[in-house]
Amino acid sequence: KYKGLSKEGMMKIRKEHCNPVTMNITYYERPIYIYHGYKQWLWDVDGRRYLDLFAGVATVSVGHCNPKVTAAAEKQLKRLWHTTNIYVHPTLHEYCEKLASNLPDPLKVIYLTNSGTEANDLAMLMARLYTGNYEIITFRGSYHGGSQQTMGLTSNSSYKYPIATSSGCTHVMCPDVFRGLWGGSHCRDSPVQTIRECNCAPGQCMAKDQYIGQLNEAFATSLPSRIAAFFAEPIQGMGGATQYPKNYLKEAYKLVRERGGICIADEVQTGFGRTGTHFWGFQGHEVMPDMVTMAKGIGNGFPMGAVVTTPEIAASFGKAFHFNTFGGSPIACAVGSSVIDTIKEEGLQQNSHDVGTYMLTELAKLRNKHEIIGDVRGKGLQIGVEMVKDKATRAPLSPQAANEIFEDVKDMGVLIGKGGVYKQVFRIQPPMCITREDADFFLAVFDRAIKNYMDRH
Ligand code: PMP
Repeated sequence: KYKGLSKEGMMKIRKEHCNPVTMNITYYERPIYIYHGYKQWLWDVDGRRYLDLFAGVATVSVGHCNPKVTAAAEKQLKRLWHTTNIYVHPTLHEYCEKLASNLPDPLKVIYLTNSGTEANDLAMLMARLYTGNYEIITFRGSYHGGSQQTMGLTSNSSYKYPIATSSGCTHVMCPDVFRGLWGGSHCRDSPVQTIRECNCAPGQCMAKDQYIGQLNEAFATSLPSRIAAFFAEPIQGMGGATQYPKNYLKEAYKLVRERGGICIADEVQTGFGRTGTHFWGFQGHEVMPDMVTMAKGIGNGFPMGAVVTTPEIAASFGKAFHFNTFGGSPIACAVGSSVIDTIKEEGLQQNSHDVGTYMLTELAKLRNKHEIIGDVRGKGLQIGVEMVKDKATRAPLSPQAANEIFEDVKDMGVLIGKGGVYKQVFRIQPPMCITREDADFFLAVFDRAIKNYMDRH
């Protein structure tokens, strides 16, 4: 039990001194005060335990205070904290070799950063320098960062300020087969896939072709003939676990490359085994990006990120210094190495697949049972549950209504996430060590919370 500040004291400090826009939001109307964590569990200051299915926004990949990672950090904390990498220290080299060995050729050159925003900032810069072009394409609904540059990539009004963000960012229609314009019932109703298979009979559903048509329309109307890059998350995170029709990314990559652009996979949420069948989300789409950006799960909560690219692209980025005091610090590298080892030693990618598939299958049953669950989707432990007013119109459930369910789930001891541009999607992106029993507990709680909501309204 925590014996320091009172809850009222913390709230007062939060209101007076902490980032007023973000910090005054406590995620919950009745906030929780978390004191410590272990694996998939969090405890509040009163000693109450919660099952954490959001992992601090898909970040705590191998579990809170994972003993192996904690031991690795502790060892490094006693040996060497910092050199700004102007001297050679072994930890960085051990880590870069390990990370590179987990990426396919020719993705071999690593730039270490401190966050996902920083990684995407750098990726934008390198894409523009390498191609000599300027325009970058991202999906509507995407989140790629909150700096002035990456705010241009991000396409969610909640995160936009009325200032000049990076110019030269075009947001194309997200090929969302549930809320978007196109998608047949087969696209929507088969939940356990990286990408939404579209096997509907010809003429019934041509979602992939229709969304590719939209991309072509953007090439014909909004974009210059030569472009710098296309950024896409393999499965959207903040956007609400949005998945794309089968082969969409494959065809989009081809169209982008024909116009001189490079293809960038933002793996900040989907990387490091979360999607289960693959270590990287892009592998589920059978595409090969020219650059991959990563953060969050890379450090299990330790602040770090990375851009990985090809030697050819890296070569275009050598005409001036690129300096980063903390990127690749010995402590970050020790943590990052241990995270990769732990994912392998504890079989966490396989666990993501097994528990994630089970969760998706069971959630699909809840979707069939409850009128207000419109869609269940995702892959491994990157899961979204889209809430609707009713199945016929698919109108998004109001944020107030979604919040009622969200609070109830929390009061019953389970923490999940929110997402989607209308705040209508529940997100399940837990530490990858959760068990089937944890999934069963959540499913029972979620079922009850929806029943409670229906009874009240
Ligand atoms: N890309 C994606 C896909 C993200 O979800 C986020 C953070 N939510 C970022 C980039 C930015 O990462 P960070 O908050 O570490 O800057």
